[in-house]
Amino acid sequence: MTETIRALIDRLCENHALSVEEYAQLIDGRDGEAARLLAARADAVRREVYGNRVFIRGLIEISNICKNDCLYCGIRRSNRSCVRYRLEKDDILTCCEEGYALGFRTFVMQGGEDAFFTDEVMTDIVRAIKARYPDCAVTLSLGERGDESYARLREAGADRYLLRHETASPAHYARLHPAEMSFANRMRCLRELKALGYQVGCGFMVGSPHQTTRELAADLKFIEEFAPQMVGIGPFIPHAATPFAGHPAGTVELTCYLLSVIRLIHPNALLPATTALGSIDPKGREKGILAGANVVMPNLSPAAVRKKYELYNNKLSDGDESAQCVAHLRQSMAAIGYEIVTARGDYPSN
Ligand code: SAH
Repeated sequence: MTETIRALIDRLCENHALSVEEYAQLIDGRDGEAARLLAARADAVRREVYGNRVFIRGLIEISNICKNDCLYCGIRRSNRSCVRYRLEKDDILTCCEEGYALGFRTFVMQGGEDAFFTDEVMTDIVRAIKARYPDCAVTLSLGERGDESYARLREAGADRYLLRHETASPAHYARLHPAEMSFANRMRCLRELKALGYQVGCGFMVGSPHQTTRELAADLKFIEEFAPQMVGIGPFIPHAATPFAGHPAGTVELTCYLLSVIRLIHPNALLPATTALGSIDPKGREKGILAGANVVMPNLSPAAVRKKYELYNNKLSDGDESAQCVAHLRQSMAAIGYEIVTARGDYPSN
C-alpha cells in the first residue's frame, strides 16, 4: 500500500468524506494491504455503533412480473423464458407467520413492477402485516411509484424502502436501462421517499456493464451526500436471457472493499451482505460481514416460487439463503465472531 492510499484511508476515517477524484484513487490504488486496513477500520466503527450484532430481514419476493426492461435483470419483461408468478395477500401473510416464528422482525417485500399491486392492494397488505405484527418493521422494494403512492404506503405503516439508484451517472444509467426509464425519475423517487420519512436504501451493482472507476467514485459521492439509512451493494451477475449475458460478473474482492469504504462514510448505515455476494462465493456473506456489513436478508418466499425470482443465474435460493436455515446462519456468523439478533434493527437515531 502506498503512502497516498494510507493517507486517504486516514482522512476517510476522520472526515467520512473524500472528493470524487480521491474515491477513484482509493479504488484504483487498492491492494490486499489496503483492503485489510479498510476492513479493520470499518469493523471498528461498526462495533462502536452496533457491537457484534447482525440483523436479519426476511425477504419475500412477492412477484417476478415486471413492466420494466432493465437490461441486466433476469425478470425484465422481454425475457420470455421467465416463468412468472405473484404471491397474493394470504401467501404473503403465511410467509410472515413462518418468519415471525423463526425470529424475523423485519419483512421485506420485493418485486418487479407488477400492476396488480395497486396502492389499494399494497396498503391493505401492509396494514394487515402491521396489525398482526406490530413489533415488526415493514420494508418495501417495489421500484418506482408516484409520490402519492409512496405517501399512501407510508401512511399504511411501511417503515423502510429499498430502491437502488443503480448508478449515479446519468450516462451510465442510460446504458443499463431502456429509453423509457430515466435517471431523473429514479432520483425523484429517492428524494421523495426520504422526504416522506422512510428509512431509505439506495445502492448499486459492483461490476455492472460499462461501469468504470469513475462511475464507482460517483456512486460513493452520491451515497456520501444522499446519506441513506441503508446501502445495498452486490456484484453484478449475468443472466443468460438478457442483453448482458456475455458480461463478466463483479468480484467479491471489490464488493467487500467498497462495503468497507461505505461503512467509513456512514458509520451508522445498515449494510447488507447481499444474496448476490453469497451467490458468487460460498463464503461471500461472511466476507461481507467481515468487511463492514451488518445485515443479512434470508429468503422467506415460498419454496415453490423461489427459483423463479431469477434476477441473475445461479442465484442462491436454498441452503443458508433460506430463512428456514437461520439456525445454521447463526452458527456461521458466530464462527466469525458475530451474533444474529432478533430485533427490528432500525437505523440508530442520534
Ligand atoms: N423492481 C425493484 C426490485 C429490483 S430487484 C426495483 O426496481 O427496485 C433488486 C435489485 O437486484 C436491483 O435493484 C438490482 O440492483 C439487482 N439486480 C438485478 N439484476 C441483477 C443482476 N443481473 N446481477 C446482480 N444484481 C442484480
